Amino acid sequence: MDNYDVIIVGTGPAGMGAAFSLIEKKKGAKILMLDKKPFSTGGMRNDCKMNFTFPIGFPLEYWEENIANKYLDEVTRFLKPVFLPKKNIDMYKNRATRLGCSLLDIKQTHLGTDGGLELIKKLQKELDEKGVTLSLGEEMLEIDNRKKVIKTDKREIGYKTILIAPGRQGFHFLQNVMRMLGISYIDNIVDIGIRVETRLEHYPIVKDYYDPKFYFKEKVRTFCTNSGNAHVVKEKYATARGDIWYSVNGHAFKQDESRNNGLVNFAILKTVRFTEPLASGQEFAEHLGLLATLMGGGKPLMQRVGDFRLGSRSKTSTFNNDLYDFKPSLADCCPSDISLAMPSKILRYIWSAMKNLDTIVPGILHPSTIMYYPEIKLYANKPDYKDKNFQVAEGVFFAGDGAGTSRGITGAWASGIRASEGMEKYL
Ligand SMILES: Cc1cc2nc3c(=O)[nH]c(=O)nc-3n(C[C@H](O)[C@H](O)[C@H](O)COP(=O)(O)OP(=O)(O)OC[C@H]3O[C@@H](n4cnc5c(N)ncnc54)[C@H](O)[C@@H]3O)c2cc1C
Repeated sequence: MDNYDVIIVGTGPAGMGAAFSLIEKKKGAKILMLDKKPFSTGGMRNDCKMNFTFPIGFPLEYWEENIANKYLDEVTRFLKPVFLPKKNIDMYKNRATRLGCSLLDIKQTHLGTDGGLELIKKLQKELDEKGVTLSLGEEMLEIDNRKKVIKTDKREIGYKTILIAPGRQGFHFLQNVMRMLGISYIDNIVDIGIRVETRLEHYPIVKDYYDPKFYFKEKVRTFCTNSGNAHVVKEKYATARGDIWYSVNGHAFKQDESRNNGLVNFAILKTVRFTEPLASGQEFAEHLGLLATLMGGGKPLMQRVGDFRLGSRSKTSTFNNDLYDFKPSLADCCPSDISLAMPSKILRYIWSAMKNLDTIVPGILHPSTIMYYPEIKLYANKPDYKDKNFQVAEGVFFAGDGAGTSRGITGAWASGIRASEGMEKYL
């Protein structure tokens, strides 16, 4: 059996943050990083727009501002971001305040999907040079923490301490691990919403502020704005029973005037929290995802704002080459009526947010704007953590979006560093 001092499961930013921090803290430690994907991956591959201002990416149940800032400083020192310039922020802020909404002023950088790939290659090379063993295309399946052994699809591996950071798509896997370790958890929160796609001239704020973070009433917010060479994509999910559903998402390639498609996309999400009776946010979201996939004949749904306002479904013929029209960047999507698929309370708040947004930045309610549904964020596993370093059992740590300690690249990286400080004492 192979033995390592440290196993890190997941090569996303949470895993990276922990790996680089541990190399610094414990020179010579034998570290293995595993990823089930055949390339060093994680969410840094998608768009790689990074936010460096609290509270973006830091769930408030685990992070106070001064603590998050301490780790953000470390992430900044390591990644050396070049922050994007911003303009006219006070004007937008004042307009938002007048409507009872707010605009957060966030330090951001954007590498793009292609730029993220370059960064990943560089980080991977650095890890290799520092002696970290990277095993890609190897999936962790089980854990026995009494024997300090994990089982992968290839072998058994011993450890002194382990970080499990499988991201949002590892949600079910993490829940299985928690059952194996006897750790109690809840997952009562989920974000549900739409992705908006429109022409750049209908959301010109992105020229002043790359990813504007608007907060509206009833826990609705804008999220993950992409522009330039920007695309809506679909992500495939499977329920525990193996039924397939899709969520949409968005990304952009790095800025290059010659390749721009003239489109902008961003999410508008509503946070839903279940209390009494306590329900699983994951299962609730899955039911919505399955309903949309059923209505879309196996695809997510899209509807033009013009059709939505008139209460009619969008049809294939709606997406033509009309003068005011543009081609959806996600072609594999079904023209439909999202109000048939979305719970009315969520839809009402999202539509209200869109009207507010259209008053702050006039344009997004243009009839050609597309609303894609569903966009769902499943990052609300809340394990019973034993300490501030996200330890769940003797020597076992969780971090990142799947474990609920982050909601974005920088927060995930910071969570990895924070977990590594707890792991250090097992070495
Ligand atoms: C399309 C898209 C665009 C995004 N854009 C941005 C953005 O611009 N800015 C931003 O801040 N955030 C963005 N995000 C979110 C961001 O990617 C996540 O917040 C972040 O990557 C979370 O980091 P993580 O380390 O927790 O998980 P991940 O980055 O998801 O990494 C987890 C890794 O664990 C691996 N894994 C899972 N299960 C196992 C297992 N059993 N065995 C071995 N390996 C396993 C996975 O293959 C994966 O590589 C985007 C996400 C998507 C999907």
